[in-house]
Amino acid sequence: MTDGARHPRIALYPGSFDLLSNGHLDLIRRASDIFDKLVVAVGVNPHKETLFSVEERLEILREATADLENVEVATIEGLTVDFAAKVGANVIIRGLRAVSDFEYELQLAITNRQINQKVETVFMAAGPGVIFLSSSMIKDVWDLGGDVSKFVPESVLPHLDRKRGQRRSGSPLTAT
Ligand code: ADP
Repeated sequence: MTDGARHPRIALYPGSFDLLSNGHLDLIRRASDIFDKLVVAVGVNPHKETLFSVEERLEILREATADLENVEVATIEGLTVDFAAKVGANVIIRGLRAVSDFEYELQLAITNRQINQKVETVFMAAGPGVIFLSSSMIKDVWDLGGDVSKFVPESVLPHLDRKRGQRRSGSPLTAT
């Protein structure tokens, strides 16, 4: 046991968040209860086609987490583990839904730990009501004109409507 002030516990929750889902938000809420500060960070992958640009994803995350005082939203610059160290986080949060997530997530966690041993990955189980939600599935439903309001935070819906409008007016659907 140590006396005096302890360091604040800061965690980083990285992801694409290309269509923030109720599953992501459930994890954000639960993790923000555990840690003093949670940095939710959007990873930039220039090779991955996305529906929303990084700026749009940041705005969506900021809106959806506005009521959570200890949550900050950021863009990941460089390697995730390096970014974790930069924001003072020694924990990376990742969500586990099914066995299908496990192999990839384990590989990622072990690789990250080999790069920086001071940063631990902590897995959180998906909530029962959102365990089958994935951004790609929700985007597929939306793409085909389906109602996705049960799957995403309410604040995401106007952004989807705007995308639909852009698509109707002939603008490219994916972010550049
Ligand atoms: P990435 O491209 O980095 O996997 P995602 O935005 O798809 O980014 O996911 C970020 C994290 O959130 C991952 O750890 C993923 O397993 C987790 N996640 C995604 N959907 C859910 C969900 N419905 N419930 C809990 N965790 C989830």
